[in-house]
Amino acid sequence: MQLSTQLIHEGHIEDNSRAVMSPIVLSTTFERGDDGLSFPAGYLYSRYDNPNRHALETKLALMENGAAAVTFASGLAAATAVFQSLRSGDHVLLPDDTYFGVRNILAKLFPQFGVEFSLVDMLDLAQVQAEIRPNTRLVWLETPSNPRVKLTDIAAVVAIARQHGCFTVADNTWATPYFTKPLDLGVDISLHSTTKYIGGHSDVLGGALIFKAMDERYEFIRTYQKTGGAVPSPFDCWLLCRSLATFTARMPIHAANALQLAQWLQQHPAVEAVLYPGLPDNPQHDIALRQMKGGFGGMMSILVKGGQEAALRFCGKLRIFQHATSLGGVESLIEHRRSVEGPESPSPDNLLRISVGIEAVEDLIADMEQAFDK
Ligand SMILES: *Cc1c(COP(=O)(O)O)cnc(C)c1O
Repeated sequence: MQLSTQLIHEGHIEDNSRAVMSPIVLSTTFERGDDGLSFPAGYLYSRYDNPNRHALETKLALMENGAAAVTFASGLAAATAVFQSLRSGDHVLLPDDTYFGVRNILAKLFPQFGVEFSLVDMLDLAQVQAEIRPNTRLVWLETPSNPRVKLTDIAAVVAIARQHGCFTVADNTWATPYFTKPLDLGVDISLHSTTKYIGGHSDVLGGALIFKAMDERYEFIRTYQKTGGAVPSPFDCWLLCRSLATFTARMPIHAANALQLAQWLQQHPAVEAVLYPGLPDNPQHDIALRQMKGGFGGMMSILVKGGQEAALRFCGKLRIFQHATSLGGVESLIEHRRSVEGPESPSPDNLLRISVGIEAVEDLIADMEQAFDK
């Protein structure tokens, strides 16, 4: 069965109403069987598991050919779960442009447990080799990166990590399972902020880990989910399942709109550079062709001429694009990263990050055209 069919039909929750769409099971507790010992439906208490979370985890595992998925209340709760599985004395190698929230977890919460980290440019494979220490346990990947939209060669970094006995996690939030399947390229755990493309409508916060194998680390993280308790609510899981029904319909529109917009922006005199892996002159276009299938995603950044002032003026004049953080929704968003990341931001002051929505691309182009012209 194809993924689009599975995402609509797999994991359906049966009740006695013959409901076509799955109900939301709000009950926090589930009745034992008549023998007094069994839990006939497999549910006991909703922090441990509940029907809506089970349905969501079933669908997510299918999307990346994973053995299992474990969901959380946010993307960063999912990242924290991975770091909790490390031991005191372990070292983590992170890309130098990792999502800042992930880096913050290691910088602010884990030093007291003796977990160290360092940063490396993942595009430089010799540097990756050189930066691995005897105590490195985890190599973290994020591709395309934020906000420079750089692509890491997943298979090459996995090969280096394996040589040194490290496990790998790929933050696949931007590429989504539609365009990239990190587990098929040898990664151990794929991470998603389901807040983004999986939710797809900017109205639910969530996170997920998809595992290649149900190994010891999976067992630890499953225990952490159930006992640590940073779980998504049944309603959040239901919303995400609703979103997944249209996932394979939404994603190609994001990618086609982004490619067309990138091509248009590239020839615009007010634009200095367009950072989008789908453009043939992008420095990582060959990696994109190898590890992205069916398109290059909906995220890009642009550098506009005239510095921060021109960038902010442009954002203020846009009518369809909204100047707001986050990404992956049906609506187009644009964001000046430097002013949200603060003075230590590595983003240039003329960089604007764009999450291209699924509106008609003619309208998106016309909106940008009028905002540049004024
Ligand atoms: C948003 C995001 C996260 C964090 O997810 P939350 O759901 O906001 O906790 C992690 N990684 C990437 C790449 C993201 O875009």
